[in-house]
Amino acid sequence: MSIIPLHPNDRICMKKPHPCGGTEFLVLRVGSQVRVVCKTCGRDMTLDRIKLEKSIRHILPSDENQKETETAK
Ligand SMILES: [Zn+2]
Repeated sequence: MSIIPLHPNDRICMKKPHPCGGTEFLVLRVGSQVRVVCKTCGRDMTLDRIKLEKSIRHILPSDENQKETETAK
């Protein structure tokens, strides 16, 4: 299986939607576990990287032109 390159601030689209209905997540921290935050409801969660990679539909290109003032800590 190919490893999906993940970086903090990447936005990912999941196959399975969050209970809130959102499918877009923002990557906060990458390691053996990945911390992501739901863009729709703002909830964050930590997932095993392997599990996460399986549930990623695609990675959205980070729009650097768009100035998003998100200070998610
Ligand atoms: Zn959500």
